[in-house]
Amino acid sequence: MRMFQQQVPRCLTACLANTKIKTEIPSVLFGRLLQFPLAAIIPAIALLFVPGTSAWAGEQPKLVLQITVDALRGDLPDRFSSALGNGGFRYLMEQGIHYTNANYQHANTETIVGHVSLATGTVPAAHGMVGNVWFDRELGRIAYNIEDSRYHLLTAGADVDKKNEIDPTQRTAKSDGRSPDNILTSTLSDEMAIHFAGKSKIFAVSVKDRGAVSLAGHAGKAFWFSKASGEFVTSNYYYQQYPDWVNDWNARKPAQAYADKAWELTHESSKYLFGNADDREYETDFPGFGRTFPHAYGKADDKYFTTRLTLSPAGDELTLDFAKTLLDKEQLGQDEIPDFLAISFSSTDYVGHIFGASSLEIEDNLVRLDRTLADLFAYIDKKIGLANTLIALSADHGQPEVPGHLHDLGIDKAHYFDTKTLDKAPAISALKKQFGIGEELVKAFFFPYLYLNHEVIRAKGLDHSTVEQAVAAELMKFKGVAYAVSSMALRESNVPDTLLMRTILHNFHPKRSGDIYLVFEPNIFINDFDGLTVASTHGSPWRYDTFVPVIFAGVGLKPARVDRPVTPYDISATLAAYLKIKPPSGSIGIPLAEVLEK
Ligand SMILES: [Zn+2]
Ligand SMILES: [Zn+2]
Repeated sequence: MRMFQQQVPRCLTACLANTKIKTEIPSVLFGRLLQFPLAAIIPAIALLFVPGTSAWAGEQPKLVLQITVDALRGDLPDRFSSALGNGGFRYLMEQGIHYTNANYQHANTETIVGHVSLATGTVPAAHGMVGNVWFDRELGRIAYNIEDSRYHLLTAGADVDKKNEIDPTQRTAKSDGRSPDNILTSTLSDEMAIHFAGKSKIFAVSVKDRGAVSLAGHAGKAFWFSKASGEFVTSNYYYQQYPDWVNDWNARKPAQAYADKAWELTHESSKYLFGNADDREYETDFPGFGRTFPHAYGKADDKYFTTRLTLSPAGDELTLDFAKTLLDKEQLGQDEIPDFLAISFSSTDYVGHIFGASSLEIEDNLVRLDRTLADLFAYIDKKIGLANTLIALSADHGQPEVPGHLHDLGIDKAHYFDTKTLDKAPAISALKKQFGIGEELVKAFFFPYLYLNHEVIRAKGLDHSTVEQAVAAELMKFKGVAYAVSSMALRESNVPDTLLMRTILHNFHPKRSGDIYLVFEPNIFINDFDGLTVASTHGSPWRYDTFVPVIFAGVGLKPARVDRPVTPYDISATLAAYLKIKPPSGSIGIPLAEVLEK
């Protein structure tokens, strides 16, 4: 609202002035023009036009740089600021506009959901990415978010190596093809492509495929890191063959430079908040990586070598190196048409999963990421100028605290939800008694959605809504379950009008969402990654998972720290307003006034 209060009067003045110019000039030209010497009139007309034309062109940034730090909870940059240097987070927080109270308003705070929400400025109910995976009722199987079997990777042998892949969502993909086809609304990058008639250069880079494909949108180009090949790759949705510079970058084998090295602490341990707490029993002892510094990367031919790079700041450093080469070789920001580069840094997420949000590792990872950002900003300043670059940084979600850490502090109500020890028998016998059906009632469960077997319900002539609500009522009996919300109840507006219920509604897409949405109580979550036990897992609608930083910087913005509640959906709306282009098709964001003040 503030934007409209502040902007409307200014806009009205400008618009009225422009209207006046347009209507009066013909009469000037045809009526009194010949009565005045030409030399006196031309400067007068030029003066009238200056604010409308030359100012508009000059105000456009040459580059829009959208940075996503995967799982950077909103408080983390402030919390660890004493260990940070200059030019990275400090540049953003001290020279930029830092929104300190930004929360997502969708329930399933997972990576693809957050990234696509950042790109499209809307919720999963509109953009359709309801989870990292969902049960595709047409295919009759669980589908991976950006999988598209019509396309293939350009690099042979770069597909997910199912034997060694530790990310269970990645393993659900049945083909190596990737595209943005499942993203149902337009992205800011799409809108830039449309507005600037295809002249904007649009790229996205990340270690994670979903971190890049999301932000590149339908019109841009995406590159991501293949753990199987140790290279940055793309699919033939984007290119028929790699640009030469990508081949050259991969041929240099930058990942191999980390072989036989280790992730070591940047500072003396006394400099860190968790300097005396490196070894915690709840941290994940990943093979060969260990729970304490230094964390060895191992030999280049070790099957987990590239995985270890992604579990450390090395993943972000490789992403930076690739992005800098891209900036240079694709000549981003070198003409008057704004270009778009999205970089999603994935390491913070993996480090959080493995060691937790309150660990020496997450702390040093942030110190390293800070150096990575400082390097990136210095490079952009040299090549394009930060004064010509509009930077927007946020995260796709936050992260929870590890229950063990909370226990150490005397906060007992925190634990892992062990799905293996779930005693489903009473629920099944209750449902059998009520409807004459048991286990076959459930088609699939992939947190947070439970998918019922619609065919069985139809064949038995049962009322779908009654069955769904009965199953939800049984799930509510499990210890640790806060809510089991029936989709039918959402459709029928038969749920209390609370913020939490609205986040589940914002997550609901009729073709992709399951029949029941499960919410655990705060600080209770599943930590079993299909066999790999991790320290923490995000994905809840609770504040620690929805809370992210939103920071704008560059282009001479006036520094500010803003505590007013905003949402990450506001980012693409703000970028669109700044560029004076139309917002993405599903946008629900409100342009942020502080960024638009000039
Ligand atoms: Zn993520
Ligand atoms: Zn994650």
